[in-house]
Amino acid sequence: MRELYVRARAKINLTLDVTGKREDGYHNVEMIMQTVNLYDELWIQRIPVPMIRITSNLRWLPCDERNLAYQAVQLMRESYGITEGVHIYLKKRIPVAAGLGGGSSDAAAVFVGLNKLFNLHVTKRELMNLGLQLGADVPYCILRGTALAQGIGEQLTPLAPMPRCWVVLAKPGIHVSTGSVYQKLNLQNIKKRPSTKDVIQAIEDKNIDQIASELCNVLETVTMEEHPVIAQLKDSFIEYGALGTLMSGSGPTVFGLFKNKETAQKAARQLKMGNITRQVFVTTIFNEER
Ligand code: ATP
Repeated sequence: MRELYVRARAKINLTLDVTGKREDGYHNVEMIMQTVNLYDELWIQRIPVPMIRITSNLRWLPCDERNLAYQAVQLMRESYGITEGVHIYLKKRIPVAAGLGGGSSDAAAVFVGLNKLFNLHVTKRELMNLGLQLGADVPYCILRGTALAQGIGEQLTPLAPMPRCWVVLAKPGIHVSTGSVYQKLNLQNIKKRPSTKDVIQAIEDKNIDQIASELCNVLETVTMEEHPVIAQLKDSFIEYGALGTLMSGSGPTVFGLFKNKETAQKAARQLKMGNITRQVFVTTIFNEER
């Protein structure tokens, strides 16, 4: 096989709790993650010249060592003695720096893709361990589906698949740095934390209304204080019929959950017509057969 096509899907957080700060500066988290069907597309090709070449439709995205897809190729080449070169065309569709894990998912897709393309037969578990070197969310992006993430996000427990529903994502045109959000978070000031156990129970019960009513992210207050647009989007989602709404990760993307397609599409149209943001995506949750 010389060439392979892979999809790198985005994730949302149904819950995000920060349980403590570690000596090394990282935070301990507890979050329920869910893959959605919004994806970047990667065409991975073996090339005779021993080099790594990334090209992308997003002209301003760095395609050198700063790109996580590039770093993933580098790590796979070093770890498994791949001498051949690799070219990747990366079609970005997931908004960048949005709280949707786009970069981590691209890296995950490269790990899985190169494993197939070079017939390496590396286990998923080993790829996940390797992925952790590039970022705390990379192992989850290899696992995918509905999962509980603990530690710095790398300790993963697969959960029952979340019931199928529609997800509308709205990305406001502001820039949020994940690092500074965590820095500004004062653990003593957190007033509302997610009931992770209850959400897991609601997922097991396939009770979408209950899941939607329990959505909670402790980073919301930090990002919302600086960017009122987050609260505006959440209000709009409720007004347009979402069962529940939340900021994903450290933001700024806000999502709404919907039971049916028509309501989701109508809400997306209404959001686009308002003057908050035009970057609105209608998608569904994604779960693999396990
Ligand atoms: P995080 O919460 O880890 O910051 P995110 O989902 O909010 O993730 P990403 O889309 O992964 O954000 O982008 C974060 C940063 O990573 C950006 O500043 C971007 O320049 C850099 N980056 C490196 N590689 C990629 C990639 N393949 N796709 C998108 N961004 C990338």
